[in-house]
Amino acid sequence: MDWISEIDKLRKEKNAIILAHNYQIAEIQDLGDFSGDSLELARKATETDADMIVMCGVDFMAETAKILNPGKKVIIPSLNAKCPMSAMLTRQELLEAKAQHPEADVVLYVNSGADCKALATSCCTSANADKIVNAMESDVVIFGPDRNLAEYVMKRTDKKIIPVPEKGYCYTHAQIRLEGVKDKMEKHPNADLVVHPECFPEVQEIADAIASTSGMLRYCKESSAKEFIIGTECGMLHRLEKENPGKKFYPAFDDAICLQMKEITLEKLYNSLKNEQHEVKVPEDISERAIKAINRMLEIS
Ligand code: SF4
Repeated sequence: MDWISEIDKLRKEKNAIILAHNYQIAEIQDLGDFSGDSLELARKATETDADMIVMCGVDFMAETAKILNPGKKVIIPSLNAKCPMSAMLTRQELLEAKAQHPEADVVLYVNSGADCKALATSCCTSANADKIVNAMESDVVIFGPDRNLAEYVMKRTDKKIIPVPEKGYCYTHAQIRLEGVKDKMEKHPNADLVVHPECFPEVQEIADAIASTSGMLRYCKESSAKEFIIGTECGMLHRLEKENPGKKFYPAFDDAICLQMKEITLEKLYNSLKNEQHEVKVPEDISERAIKAINRMLEIS
């Protein structure tokens, strides 16, 4: 089976748009109508006139696309593509934090469930987290679920940040350790180190740039450096290499792979389009409240 041409046929027949996150396998990134980070995918989801959105990413991205397009069919090719960090924050824990800090605004990373987003003042992504927090009215902000992103924000705001849960993290970025990064720097002494804010603070501290995946693309394009060590999920290297011929990219950790992102294969994408599954549904009452937090982010950023 020539998956790529079959997927192409089906996408046209069904007037479907394929959105692919930067951490997807290379073939899916190339096949996507659009590839980008969470914020870019959320924006694209608001602009499409396709009848169906196929989200090649993880659960919270598909939910976000559905919340922004309640009248469209949104499908995700694998039910196992669930972000473990997003699952670290429960609605109950967030309700308790809100009860303890009734004066606080709540800023949630888009990597969170729709039921939690429904309780937030605004969402944010790694590309705009500090900007969103600084735009909040309250001087106290409950922020979750990523602790490392919370610490990144703490360094860029005067507001009091309350992380929920206390130690939420992305296991993919948590594998990028200081010692390993230093080894890579010794191997490639002319390379700039560019890391994601989901990395540990000590890794962020030695970086030349801390950026979301869209920020990494911009930084590496504009930089006069010819080599880069990239501290994020390894799927990102495909796009960096494709868009920067002549420049060299090395992963900060060779096995920084998100297994949930890699759940989506060409075969699963084909089956998903053919059978229009797995359809993403978000209860109306949750969706109506969550959309306010997503739109607040889109307005501010
Ligand atoms: S890379 Fe980390 S934050 Fe992104 S989907 Fe995978 S586990 Fe979640």
